[in-house]
This record gives sequence, structure tokens and C-alpha cells, in this order.
Amino acid sequence: MSKKIFVTQPAMPPLDEFMPYLEQIWDNKWLTNNGPFHQQYEEELAQYLGVNHLSVFSNGTLALITALQALRITGEVITTPFSFVATTHSLWWNNIKPVFVDIEDQYYNLDPQKIEAAITPQTTAIMPVHVYGNPCNVEEIQRIADTYGLRIIYDAAHAFGVKKDGQSILNWGDLSILSFHATKTYNTIEGGAIICQNEKTKQRIDLLKNFGFRDEVTVIEPGINAKMNELQAAYGSLQLKHVDKYIAKRKEIVELYRKLLASVQGISMMTDMDNVEHNYSYFPVRVNTAEYGMTRDELYLELQKYDIFARRYFYPLISDFPTYKGLPSSKADNIPVATQVAKEIICLPIYPDLAADDITRICEIISKKH
Ligand SMILES: *Cc1c(COP(=O)(O)O)cnc(C)c1O
Repeated sequence: MSKKIFVTQPAMPPLDEFMPYLEQIWDNKWLTNNGPFHQQYEEELAQYLGVNHLSVFSNGTLALITALQALRITGEVITTPFSFVATTHSLWWNNIKPVFVDIEDQYYNLDPQKIEAAITPQTTAIMPVHVYGNPCNVEEIQRIADTYGLRIIYDAAHAFGVKKDGQSILNWGDLSILSFHATKTYNTIEGGAIICQNEKTKQRIDLLKNFGFRDEVTVIEPGINAKMNELQAAYGSLQLKHVDKYIAKRKEIVELYRKLLASVQGISMMTDMDNVEHNYSYFPVRVNTAEYGMTRDELYLELQKYDIFARRYFYPLISDFPTYKGLPSSKADNIPVATQVAKEIICLPIYPDLAADDITRICEIISKKH
């Protein structure tokens, strides 16, 4: 039996580098509630990302839920079924009705051409996702939002460090949300952030993530507890010193995959976008059964025989889960592209420590050369 290879493995800094941070925390005896590491980390992170205002969170889902509260979003929100469930769950937790709109066929992001038809008098916002870290058509989404007076909250959980035309993609829209979960390109074990456009909004978000406390005796609104603790913040600060290296290694892996899979009939891969700095968070390939001679699910099971655990992100679609299945916008004929892509997509293993030999072996299995 060979060793098991999973779709991802967390990138961690050397333990000895983390020890001085821990010693400082043990000296401070300040574990959470906007401690010194939290303060330092927010500044370092904003600088690294090239954004002006952000607030770090204990995870990405609480950041999404809080973002909707911060802008007082109600009614209906237009979103994509082709994402991780937390995108839509955050709407549900705010009593907002999700309205699913189809994706485009190249990068699998929300299709701007289909947004306007889904707008109703109840629509208050759009929640697109930069799927796999590939930027949405942000200009067109902004144009629609401006025309109809809608807010935009980007689920940018996959888009850490991604730039378009030299600018952070996180500066688009009203708010963007990051996730620093262990499985993401950049992790703080669990963690997340909201990127916002001004200091006033940051203050409001900071209140909301700490029960709504303005001072010791004043609670101005019903907030939640979504604060990042000092251990996560210290770890996050150290991770920032390593993340460029993580992304560079991912890029090498993507280049190797692209080379080794280029001539496999029926397997198609994504290409880099013009003027975008990618973070290579995922390596999705699409299986054309007629050309490849095997379904996506057959390939998925074939890889498992060799202890390679690829993942079918995003299958099932969010709209197919019981909570959302009954919504009118969940019908397959409303979201035909998403329905098709969910049947054909598979994400191959990618993480900085994945060895070239293992990638070669994975590609030999896919090429049916083993
Ligand atoms: C990971 C992820 C989230 C949730 O983030 P957590 O930090 O795990 O709560 C939300 N949306 C998308 C698209 C994700 O991939």
C-alpha cells in the first residue's frame, strides 16, 4: 500500500519559529480580545494583501454572517450554487432568501449576463464567489449593482493574495470575506477576515464581532463572538512570512500538472487569466466522458484505488442540499451550466509539500499509463 495523498495538506511554518511567539503570549497572559498580536496581525495582513481596512475573524463563516449583518442585508440575495455550502448558509442564518443564478462555463463564477433577470423588488445584494481564486467579472457585477442599487459582498474565501491589474481583488465590492481554514492556501488553523472600504465600516464590524460592545458598559447592538484569538493571530503573522513560498510551490505544481496532462483526451484544465496574479489554490480538471472514456466519478474512484483522494468540488451543488432544494431558483433548468460542471469537475491534490514524483504518478493514473 502506498501512502495516502489527500486533496490538500496544511502548509505550516517551522515549529521552532513559532516558539518565540508562544513565549510572548505566555508572558503577556493576553489570550484574546484584541490583544497585541491581533492588532499587529491586522496591520501586517492589510499591508500584505494591499487593502486599507480589514478585521480578522475566528473563521470565514462567521465573517460572512457578520458581513451581512454589518450592511443590514435583508430580503433576497443573488448568489451562486457552485460554491462551498457556507456561502449560502450565511444567508440562511440571516433569514435571507438565496436566489441562485447560473455560472459561466470558463471559470465557473457567477454569470453576470444572468444576474439582471433574477433581480426582484426584494433583492438587496449580490454575493458572488471568486471560485478557485479566479476573479469574478467584477466590473460587470459592479455595473449591475450600481444600476439597481444593490450591495456586493464577495465570498473571497479562495482568493487570498489574488491580484488583477496589479491591485488586490479584495478591494472590489462593498465587502470581501477571506477564510484561513486549514485547507486553504494560507491558514491560521481556523480563521477569516472581512475587507472593507473605510474606517467607519471597520469599527462597526469590530463591534459586531465582539458582542456589540462599544465600551465596558455599552452594548449598542446584538453582536456575536467571532474574535480571532492571540495564538491564531501570532500563527497568522508568522505564516505571512512564508506564504509567498507556499504560493510559488503551488504554481510549480500547477505547471507540472499542466505539462503532464496536456495531451490527455477528454481532460480539460483551466488556464491563467490575463493580468491576474493567481494563488493556485485548487487544481480542478473537467472530465468529458465521451472523449475520456470514463465518467468523473469513475476517475474519482480509480484514483482512490491508489490511495489518491481527489475531491469533487463543487458537487453536489448547494442548491441540491435539502434546505435549498425546494427554492424555485434551485431547479436544474435555471442553473444548467452549474448542473453540468458539478458532474464533470474534480480537484486534484495540490499543496506545497506534494512531491513531483507523486504528481507524476497521479498523472500516469489519469493518463491510463500505469
Ligand atoms: C472555506 C470556505 C468558506 C468557509 O470558511 P471557514 O473559514 O471554513 O468557515 C466559505 N466559502 C467558501 C467558498 C469556502 O471555500
